[in-house]
Amino acid sequence: MNDQCIFCAIAERSAPAEVVQADDHTIAFLDISPATRGHTLVIPRRHSDDVFDISADDIERVARMAKQIAGRMPAALSCDGVNLLNSSGSAAWQTVHHFHMHVIPRYDNDPLKLPWTPGALATEDLPQIAEVLR
Ligand code: AMP
Ligand code: ZN
Repeated sequence: MNDQCIFCAIAERSAPAEVVQADDHTIAFLDISPATRGHTLVIPRRHSDDVFDISADDIERVARMAKQIAGRMPAALSCDGVNLLNSSGSAAWQTVHHFHMHVIPRYDNDPLKLPWTPGALATEDLPQIAEVLR
């Protein structure tokens, strides 16, 4: 528990949230400022900041719950697709520094836009980039 963390407060139910699903390790609730109808966040109850410090067990549990919720969305919300999104680090748009996976229902003709431009960067250095990542 991080005293300053709003998602820790939601996890221990001392802050309000529309909870969608919960178990001993993981909790999912509606985003207070939804990108689309049904936008849900899945978090580990145990605080971690981001993808860099979350345990393998916790990120696995988050992924499992995100898949369960995403799987219900087409029938429940009549959505046409789903984005799973995590932002880790302010440079990656993270604003709440308790790891969370966005589960964003997508609708044909919704207003969301792909946040990068395909083909905007040169590709000659792909082999070298792959090498440093191996
Ligand atoms: P990110 O920018 O990836 O860190 O996403 C943080 C998300 O948390 C945003 O989509 C916010 O709308 C959402 N959010 C912030 N505070 C709350 C809250 N108290 N309850 C539900 N969602 C929240
Ligand atoms: Zn927290």
